[in-house]
Amino acid sequence: MDDCIFCKIAGGEVPAKIIHRDDDVIAIEDLNPQAPSHTLVIPVPHHATIADLTQAEPALAGRLIGVASRLGADRGGEQGFRLVVNTGEYGGQTVGHVHVHVLAGRRMSWPPG
Ligand code: 5GP
Ligand code: ZN
Repeated sequence: MDDCIFCKIAGGEVPAKIIHRDDDVIAIEDLNPQAPSHTLVIPVPHHATIADLTQAEPALAGRLIGVASRLGADRGGEQGFRLVVNTGEYGGQTVGHVHVHVLAGRRMSWPPG
């Protein structure tokens, strides 16, 4: 996708603080952190939403959650962490390339806003 910021970051065209990179998945620090530790876990291939990714590449969706869970525990989440996948307009998704937010380092509240 030509105009996708996460495709550009995955392709190395736009800089980001890279936490993890393999052939299928990257993890970066969020530009606008909502917790002391805020990581985004992103599949390298472009899929718009978690529903699209799960439909097209279920094994990759599983990997995404696996990497996110490991990074949650490793990056400030010793006492717990939160994975969030905002989806669509009402879900609060602002970047149209699926990503898992990994939030850690503080106690989370519920319900979310
Ligand atoms: P969404 O709103 O789609 O769930 O999450 C998009 C996230 O991407 C936001 O938390 C936002 O701060 C982050 N973000 C948007 N553009 C960039 C960028 O260019 N670099 C990084 N590192 N994060 C970004
Ligand atoms: Zn993309």
